[in-house]
Amino acid sequence: MPASTAPIESAAIRWLRGDLTDRSRYADMSRRFRHAPYFGAAIGTAKVLASFWYGPALLVLVGLGFGTMGAALAWQRRGRNTPAITAAAFIALEVNLAVSVLITGGGSSALLPLLVVPVATQAVCFRPQVLAAGGLLSGCLATLAVLLAPAFGPAPEAPPVVHLVTYLALLASLGLGVHYLASAERDSRDEAVTDPMTGLLNRLSLSARFTEAVRAGGTEGSVGLVMCDVDHFKQVNDAYGHERGDQVLIELAIRLRGILREADLAYRVGGEEFVLLLPGRDAGAAERVAERIRRAVAATPLAGLAVTVSVGVATAVGDSASLSQLLREADGALYRAKRDGRDRVVLAA
Ligand code: GH3
Ligand code: MG
Ligand code: MG
Repeated sequence: MPASTAPIESAAIRWLRGDLTDRSRYADMSRRFRHAPYFGAAIGTAKVLASFWYGPALLVLVGLGFGTMGAALAWQRRGRNTPAITAAAFIALEVNLAVSVLITGGGSSALLPLLVVPVATQAVCFRPQVLAAGGLLSGCLATLAVLLAPAFGPAPEAPPVVHLVTYLALLASLGLGVHYLASAERDSRDEAVTDPMTGLLNRLSLSARFTEAVRAGGTEGSVGLVMCDVDHFKQVNDAYGHERGDQVLIELAIRLRGILREADLAYRVGGEEFVLLLPGRDAGAAERVAERIRRAVAATPLAGLAVTVSVGVATAVGDSASLSQLLREADGALYRAKRDGRDRVVLAA
């Protein structure tokens, strides 16, 4: 029974971390979180201003808050990037804020809304279960702070400027948190759809974008699919090395993009094989594009090497277009182009 023999700490860390996807998200987000002092600066400003009305104890809490954040970040920089450190820092900050609320009037404290910040920013790092636990903790601390505040005697009423600055601190913190989430999401989307070497779309995104591309050509319009394969590419690798081969592919991708229109889509679907989706182009137009590509490659060396491509072209009209059929037809045409001597364009029958 691995669960009972494993140390209790590692079970807790496992819970914090979640599965492999959660872990890679945590690692990615921790990197983004080196900007965490901005959150601290926003909250610290609100507290420093509030200290003029509520008393200097708040300044001590500001110092402790920065200390907590600094220690957590230093730990991270040293590579001790364990979720337990991050979670502990969140809890410490939450308690810090709850104490701030406790000594500044509880329910009537201008600082009460700030209690939401650690929980909201936790969403950036942790999975929903951990976030829910953090939310529960925050709710309990807020309740305690409000219930126990009367024991500390009446607190002065803060002027509107303290409420305003608290609101601005909240705005800045949540804005940053949402920005980190959105940028991470955008990056992972890019990684999922593009080929890292050439920057073209990858094979996985071919079917996802196909319907879109067909619609762009209109229900009555045509869609062209061009399949392009470098001739004798194995010889390029064998004679000049893999790195030079890669450079050829990168430059070929740039040349392809240069010939295509904005609406056309270019994919790297295999090692030295590219697919182009051409919305709104019939057989004649798609064949002309393919021929332009073939000539552009043959005319000027890629990475200093003379290479040629063979090209197969298939087209379909509007709603009847099926990706698998187009791929099959273009592949058949490409095969014929290879068989007939390479460096040529063949249109599927
Ligand atoms: P053909 O004219 O019939 O297409 O001949 P070919 O040599 O291009 O075709 P083949 O399919 O036999 O070989 C393709 C080669 O492409 C094999 C492999 O070494 C190379 N290759 C595949 N992916 C990459 C890559 O990412 N970088 C480099 N440098 N080479 C790659
Ligand atoms: Mg080839
Ligand atoms: Mg090939």
